[in-house]
Amino acid sequence: MYTSKAYSAASATSPLASTQIPRRDPTEHDVQIEILFCGICHSDLHSVRNEWANTVYPIVPGHEIVGRVTRVGSAVTRYKPGDLAAVGCMVDSDRTCPSCKEGLEQYCPNQVLTFNGPDKHLGGVTYGGYSDSIVVDEHFVLRVPSGLDPAGAAPLLCAGITTYSPLRHSGITKGKKVGVVGLGGLGHMGVKFARAFGAHVVVFTTSPGKTEDALRLGADEVVVSRNASEMQKHAGSFDLILDTVSADHDVNALLNLLRRDGNLTLVGAPSNPLNVAAFSLILARRSLSGSAIGGIAETQEMLDFCGKNGITADVEVIPIQKANEAYERLLKSDVKYRFTIDMASLKSE
Ligand code: NAP
Ligand code: ZN
Repeated sequence: MYTSKAYSAASATSPLASTQIPRRDPTEHDVQIEILFCGICHSDLHSVRNEWANTVYPIVPGHEIVGRVTRVGSAVTRYKPGDLAAVGCMVDSDRTCPSCKEGLEQYCPNQVLTFNGPDKHLGGVTYGGYSDSIVVDEHFVLRVPSGLDPAGAAPLLCAGITTYSPLRHSGITKGKKVGVVGLGGLGHMGVKFARAFGAHVVVFTTSPGKTEDALRLGADEVVVSRNASEMQKHAGSFDLILDTVSADHDVNALLNLLRRDGNLTLVGAPSNPLNVAAFSLILARRSLSGSAIGGIAETQEMLDFCGKNGITADVEVIPIQKANEAYERLLKSDVKYRFTIDMASLKSE
């Protein structure tokens, strides 16, 4: 065991603050990574503030990790010290269940999340990426294509895969009309991928000031969702709507924009239940579904796709000392379009 510097929260009402955490020495299948950058996902904020009522304190959040391999266990074949490597939302699963066998580890009933998951090595819960180092089984470590900026690549590990996976699952190609709701971390990646797959992309935003950015990021059209007449123009027209909103909102207004057999996929995870009117679904055989991140193989596929197509997140790089301020800005939808922590800032703690 060794000690890592980290930022943790002691309770749902405490700010993140400097701390030290234990990490295991790498076992034979483990990769030790010096963390260079970690993205700030809205899930970090939901968890730190116990909005999903499942947080164990202290919590060290962070699941968009890019870093440099520093040590590997004796059985590790795919990584060596010096490699650029990444870790996303999961660090383990049972590898025997039907989901694991299909490469869908994110649906494994025994999946271990990167933070706030049961730590079978050290006991207690896992600690995430707001830290200078992490040790992860090589199966859950990803390769970062050369040429991608590491700060902009970090958010691909959650915001990227969480939007890539449902777009692929829905078979989005040229000729399809895709809506992306909420232009934050997930949303802006959804726009980039839907555009790259050839779809006609419409962004729904509550922030009129984001219109120009949405078009620059790849949207064909932008709708201010609080304007009912703008919404009405798109009634019955979408094949897929990807809903990334993190707070209460009117999902029926979105369902009514789907064509017959259209689908709305929830990736946003507000803490309150949604209110769904039966007729929003019945009248056009529409479906409402959800999607969690993506499997390890698909995450690597997504990273390789980004490497080939030069896709990264648009990031505002911050020192870790600004993490609490970044959370307040997330709550105001004031993020362009992902905060990424430069972990060198932890050295001065
Ligand atoms: P984010 O950067 O804060 O973006 C959320 C966006 O939603 C905001 O920028 C805003 O966009 C819009 N929004 C916020 N409040 C709203 C409201 N009351 N009504 C309508 N729109 C609102 O968050 P994120 O990191 O992208 O995460 C989004 C959600 O996805 C979170 O709930 C997170 O936990 C969840 N998540 C799920 C998965 C998964 O596996 N399914 C993975 C990662 C994250 P505009 O300004 O454009 O309106
Ligand atoms: Zn996330």
